[in-house]
Amino acid sequence: MTTESRNLKVVTDVVCPFCGTLCDDIKVIMDGNRIVDTLNACVIGNEKFKSAQAGHRILAPMEREDNSAEFAPVSYDYAIERAAQILANARRPLMYGWSSTSCEAQAVGNELAEVCGAVTDNTASVCHGPSVMAIQTVGAPCCTLGEVKNRADLIIYWGCNPVHAHPRHMSRYTTYPRGFFTERGFKDRTMVVVDPRPTDTAKQADIHVQVEQGKDYELLDALRTVIRGEDIPDVVGGVKKEDIKALGDLCKSRKFGVLFFGMGVTQSIGKHRNIDIAISFVADMNKYTKFTLVAMRGHYNVTGSGQVMSWQSGFPFSMDFSRGYPRYNPGETAANDILQRQECDAALVIASDPGAHFPVSSMKYYAQIPTICIDPHETPTTGISKIVIPSTIVGVEEEGNAYRMDNVPIRCRKVCDAPEGILSDKEILERILARVKEIKAEKKGQ
Ligand code: SF4
Repeated sequence: MTTESRNLKVVTDVVCPFCGTLCDDIKVIMDGNRIVDTLNACVIGNEKFKSAQAGHRILAPMEREDNSAEFAPVSYDYAIERAAQILANARRPLMYGWSSTSCEAQAVGNELAEVCGAVTDNTASVCHGPSVMAIQTVGAPCCTLGEVKNRADLIIYWGCNPVHAHPRHMSRYTTYPRGFFTERGFKDRTMVVVDPRPTDTAKQADIHVQVEQGKDYELLDALRTVIRGEDIPDVVGGVKKEDIKALGDLCKSRKFGVLFFGMGVTQSIGKHRNIDIAISFVADMNKYTKFTLVAMRGHYNVTGSGQVMSWQSGFPFSMDFSRGYPRYNPGETAANDILQRQECDAALVIASDPGAHFPVSSMKYYAQIPTICIDPHETPTTGISKIVIPSTIVGVEEEGNAYRMDNVPIRCRKVCDAPEGILSDKEILERILARVKEIKAEKKGQ
């Protein structure tokens, strides 16, 4: 054993804070405070841990003048004071992100939004917002991923590609593991993929249903019809009648089916109506067998943000506090709506990167107004923000709660110390909130 290997220790039962699968069996090999490697994590999860100590961390708060591309380092006290002044003096600030931080930080953020009369939104508004809206409308027959592992003999992935987006989903919970009632693993299950493209997930499926792009609603409608024993046209959504009938018969013949759906359904034509009919299909199936559905949530704690917003204010995303009480109308109060209409006069982005995902026109407007970005790493969003405040990484350098895609809360562990002096998201938000309250009180007293 080398000198180095004598110092190694393994931290077990670590939760991976990357995707909504929230794998909780990760082992992290440490040399003192240095992350050497991980066991069990997928390539993306491994990189999440290792990149925590790679070069592109932000190690001090920074400020950029309006017309300058250069940032100057500033102190935390200064950055927090500037952030508080910007938010307290804005008429309609926007707060966006929240999906890659802890529930504890999200709770403080929601209070900050209320105190500032802000519009606050999480990343669901550009991914599974339609799912959340449909579930609010018609309810949802759900189950945990543990139940899927132990019971499900039919797995349907519709409009999602877990091989790339949730790499351990199939090996931990769905297609391959041996469960209590699925002792033979994949031999006890049938996997169906519904996708216009022959994705890497579709290549592993027993059946690939190649639906026409944007015709998910029609196909789900046809499935509901054949299940009831009624007739449908010869081809629906590019799929032949006999194939739709065979899929309907397969669904009815299984003991426990699960429909996993992704952004291929939520963000194609039909949006929340697609999920509405998917839920209705699953509800119909429960007349014949056990059937449930689960949304393939992306960011590791986007589900938690919806939960925390709902506990505190009654709505899961796109929440507008500008009238002094929470209002919710996605399409009017989502972050992108506000930026496109140039309605906000300041913005705070935390735990997400709209610079990499939002339309250019939205981010062009973002770059013109006073903005604060809280993030551990340099991102396209930090590059165009005015104040940048670095934070610790929850699940690596900080404990915190997060919700898995099936709404199971999981406590993320701390495995190493953050770079010296770096504050957590929660602490930064608490300090901004305290100062905003003081500034508002001073203004009221004038
Ligand atoms: S599947 Fe997701 S949660 Fe699991 S190790 Fe990979 S990135 Fe992390």
